[in-house]
Amino acid sequence: MATYPTLSAGIGHTPLLRLRHASEATGCEILAKAEFLNPGGSIKDRTALGLLDDAERQGLVRPGATLVEGTAGNTGIGLSLLGNSRGYQTVIVMPETQSREKIDALRAAGADVRLVPAVPWTDPNHYAATARLIADELNAVVPGSAWFANQFDNLANRQWHEDHTGAEIWEQTGGTIDGFACASGTGGTIAGVGRALKARREGIVIALADPAGSALASYVTTGEAKAEGSSITEGIGNARLTANFLDAPIDLAWSIPDTESIPEIHALLRQEGYCVGLSSGVNIAGAVRLARHLGPGHTVVTALCDSGMRYQAKLFNPAFLREKGIAVPDWLAAAFPG
Ligand code: PMP
Repeated sequence: MATYPTLSAGIGHTPLLRLRHASEATGCEILAKAEFLNPGGSIKDRTALGLLDDAERQGLVRPGATLVEGTAGNTGIGLSLLGNSRGYQTVIVMPETQSREKIDALRAAGADVRLVPAVPWTDPNHYAATARLIADELNAVVPGSAWFANQFDNLANRQWHEDHTGAEIWEQTGGTIDGFACASGTGGTIAGVGRALKARREGIVIALADPAGSALASYVTTGEAKAEGSSITEGIGNARLTANFLDAPIDLAWSIPDTESIPEIHALLRQEGYCVGLSSGVNIAGAVRLARHLGPGHTVVTALCDSGMRYQAKLFNPAFLREKGIAVPDWLAAAFPG
């Protein structure tokens, strides 16, 4: 067994899990990267590491500097933990609608968390714009004291996924992969993995699984970024085309309702013992749709981006689920009555 000298060595190289029920239901091999096993608990540890390493290489982050980012939470957690490991401060700007569990994890890690209203990205008070402003203000006082990670438009995000996440998937499947499906937040994962796989075999199908309320699926299928409906998922979907997403090699896209994605999460926990978060439900639903599209005998890969415990108060809360029109499985209703 290798020993890891620092936190960053433990990021990535996650196991590829076989999803038994999804595989049996489709006649395909449906496999998923266990991203909840990263040290900060999500796939966004990879993004945080990719962005920070790139910035350090370019000399953009001074010793003891403040890392600033706007995030749905997980990138912030990754950056804060890496910051602790490397001697940086972190300021994390988040929409106040994100889960209590992520906010608490950030505070526990010592991040300076700034909650802002959830507003459209065109609003100057949007969390990403606010983060950029905070970094600019810190740098105006002490030049070079802050670094804005800019995960949506900094292409070091996509590059890390291309060099690592995509390469891992290719190697772990022994090159037998036929398709990859996942959601997009910044677009780093789908663009980076898509580029890595297509470079190895052009015919590998890349599919976007987009939550309701996001404009990305409509952009891929019609060329027009139009959003309809809403979703309780966090960290995925977008109303704008980020630099990381813009030229992602996507072949197919579906809008996935919560009534399809959340039951995948409950079933996976109850039948196979994996406890995964909100975006993982969309990813599994997307992988199942892609498997049906390709037909039996194919290998489809997706990602389980974080843990269900990160959304405990929503995902395992019958009253919350009922209010959102999402089916409550019997065992969950019995476990948390009233
Ligand atoms: N799943 C979760 C849980 C996330 O936090 C995020 C990013 N916010 C994503 C998926 C989307 O990944 P990406 O930003 O690489 O598109």
